[in-house]
Amino acid sequence: MGTTVFERQPTDRDVVVASLADTVLKPFWLDDVEAAERLTLAGDIEADLAIVGGGYTGLWTAVQAKERDPKRRVVVVEARTVGWAASGRNGGFCEPSLTHGYENGMSRWPDEMDELERLGIQNIDEIERTVKRYGMDVNFERTGSLTVAVEPHQVAQLTGDSVMDAAAIQARVKSPTYLAGESDGGATALVHPAKLAYELARVATELGVTIYENSPVLGLAAGPVVRTAQGAVKASKVVLATNAFPSLLLRNALMTVPVYDYSLVTEPLTDAQLESIGWKGREGIADMGNQFHYYRLTPDNRILFGGYDAIYHAGGKIKKSYEDRPESFELLASHFFTTFPQLVGLRFTHRWAGVIDSCSRFCAFFGVARAGSVAYAAGFTGLGVGASRFAAAVMLDLLAGEETERTRLKMVKDRPLPFPPEPIATVGVNMVRWSMSRADRNGGKRNVLLKTLDAMGMGFDS
Ligand SMILES: Cc1cc2nc3c(=O)[nH]c(=O)nc-3n(C[C@H](O)[C@H](O)[C@H](O)COP(=O)(O)OP(=O)(O)OC[C@H]3O[C@@H](n4cnc5c(N)ncnc54)[C@H](O)[C@@H]3O)c2cc1C
Repeated sequence: MGTTVFERQPTDRDVVVASLADTVLKPFWLDDVEAAERLTLAGDIEADLAIVGGGYTGLWTAVQAKERDPKRRVVVVEARTVGWAASGRNGGFCEPSLTHGYENGMSRWPDEMDELERLGIQNIDEIERTVKRYGMDVNFERTGSLTVAVEPHQVAQLTGDSVMDAAAIQARVKSPTYLAGESDGGATALVHPAKLAYELARVATELGVTIYENSPVLGLAAGPVVRTAQGAVKASKVVLATNAFPSLLLRNALMTVPVYDYSLVTEPLTDAQLESIGWKGREGIADMGNQFHYYRLTPDNRILFGGYDAIYHAGGKIKKSYEDRPESFELLASHFFTTFPQLVGLRFTHRWAGVIDSCSRFCAFFGVARAGSVAYAAGFTGLGVGASRFAAAVMLDLLAGEETERTRLKMVKDRPLPFPPEPIATVGVNMVRWSMSRADRNGGKRNVLLKTLDAMGMGFDS
């Protein structure tokens, strides 16, 4: 079996260790935001719409619910604080795709792909308009993104209109690992993820939404009633926006598995260091392969470098202790300097991890329960910054009982296949991870297990 470029051109261990020596275990983005004072839910209240979860999905639902009907009484009930989870610690790639990439969508809903692409662009344009309308300070940069091939077999997988050869892609961003690349034509935007969550919360509050924090919802009673340890909301409608966390609906218990994704951020680059890598277009970048890295410049010219390892911890639990995984951070640091050897000596300042809600179709699924009074969306599988706004609109359509261009989609009506229960899930996920890693070292060739899962429309991704 072959190797990857990151193994053929490894970084000296001393360089890796020194680069990580002073990191703090904290999402870099949270340094730039200040928490607002918010109430804890206490006592019994009533609302027209109760939203469980204060990440992008819940907050986009709150904002759009108020925009559709300003008189509606809307509350958000959040277990901890707004944006503390995936929404405050992601890469900030706000991509138009609603289907976790074109190929994944095409393999599942070929007849709908034109429509899904159109709705995806419309969604990101709406995000941009919302940012402008409310003066949201979220460092929204419509830079576009680059996909880069770093192995010979990946070059052949680039088939779009804007493929660049090695010289052309290296003229954009100087990495000796790049063999070819492709631009998305400027569709993707980059955002400051934590600011996006905080600004959505600010806008929702200004529109009249009440956000309760430190109020974990323990159950969903008939009514529907959203119940916490100290209070309850009796609502006409409920939205569940709980992402990778245990669903309040039994039917969704096996629909997602929590997968940990790891990230590093460097200290700010000097002008000379920036000059050495080019990257004048500030595009978001992802390399190819089943295990891939994503990276971008921050507003203050650091480099965020994340991905590659997608770790499912046996038992499928979410635990703070899983966020510090030295072997994943060392791997990322090593791959970073393989990508940019001219930056050896640069130090990382922050290391962190977050949980992704992986589902077997790799993009969000939707539905209603309790006679149409409860709507849910989950399963973004690592691509929810843009898609969460679309998911919020779908849930509001479903609760209104309206047939819209969104609710007519097969992509919205279909449900993914569930994962098997534990302990089979752990064995299965690890076999798939091993197979994907093997394919990356084997010219992209997929083994029998991956081909079988492909044929079933099922898989595991980050
Ligand atoms: C490291 C990392 C990098 C990523 N990079 C990208 C990227 O570059 N681009 C992209 O598109 N996507 C990315 N993603 C995915 C993206 O961040 C998510 O898809 C998106 O943030 C999901 O938003 P959400 O509101 O559904 O979930 P979350 O942000 O996880 O919010 C869910 C909220 O629900 C709350 N909650 C759960 N259960 C309860 C309960 N019982 N009671 C009350 N509250 C509850 C939680 O406390 C949490 O605040 C990344 C994810 C990670 C972890």
